[in-house]
Amino acid sequence: MKFLGTSAGEGIPDPFCTCPICENARRVGGKELRTRSSFLLDEETIIDLGADYFAQARDHGLRLDKLRTVLLTHTHDDHFNYTFFWERSVKRAGTGEPLTVILSEEGKRYFDEFYVRSPALGSERLLSPPNAVLRAVKPGVPFEAGPYRVTPLRGRHSTAFEKNSTNYLVERNGESLYYALDSGYFTEETFEALRGRRLTYFIGECTFPVDFDYMTRESGHMDKKRFVENLDRLYEIGAIDEKTKIYATHISPFGSTHETLSAFFASLDRPYRAEAAYDGLELPALG
Ligand SMILES: [Zn+2]
Ligand SMILES: [Zn+2]
Repeated sequence: MKFLGTSAGEGIPDPFCTCPICENARRVGGKELRTRSSFLLDEETIIDLGADYFAQARDHGLRLDKLRTVLLTHTHDDHFNYTFFWERSVKRAGTGEPLTVILSEEGKRYFDEFYVRSPALGSERLLSPPNAVLRAVKPGVPFEAGPYRVTPLRGRHSTAFEKNSTNYLVERNGESLYYALDSGYFTEETFEALRGRRLTYFIGECTFPVDFDYMTRESGHMDKKRFVENLDRLYEIGAIDEKTKIYATHISPFGSTHETLSAFFASLDRPYRAEAAYDGLELPALG
């Protein structure tokens, strides 16, 4: 498994920005540079294929020809880049199998109404076999994706087309991973679904690595304080434990560099341990 990207919407450095965080990233490079969030489960399965997928494939020497399933958290363009449908359709060699794109029912409705039925766009060919299959999933209803059992759960984050984002509980051979972008502070329904799971991996959004006064548990994103409160609650209900490998991702250039955010997590006085993810970070395969 690999983090291909770990930034929030603007990436680090934001090309238009001269703040100290973006300037530090330009100077230091390495783990301070973040592309838009995407997580590779294995060569057949990815969570989100967003704004930077082309550069990520190039930079990580990654071919996407074996990719079978894209799990979309939501249709914000840092997570979803419509161009991949077209780019896949013009390949001159490779598989004739369609790419399955998993998304919420509201997300699927957006594709059906905006792209497929819009005569001006001519997108129907891109969104049907042999290029792609769109598959809507329901929160709490598990499905199979390759070797994984996947349960979608509702995130507290909306788009113009979707009331909630879709977060994914992925299980294989007794191991589990919960990928929660963009989630906001979890809903009670989602906490309940995760109760007692003792996840192997937890990957969550720490979109603003700073404590914002105006952020609340109802906001569509989490700052550093909410991220830790959310982990505290997950620990309390046994969703995570001392052994869970916890990663913060979807990080904006606010308040912390990778270095200072890592130091913050290292000094956190909690029974669980969390770390800041970075682009290119690899994890052992699930299960
Ligand atoms: Zn996002
Ligand atoms: Zn979003």
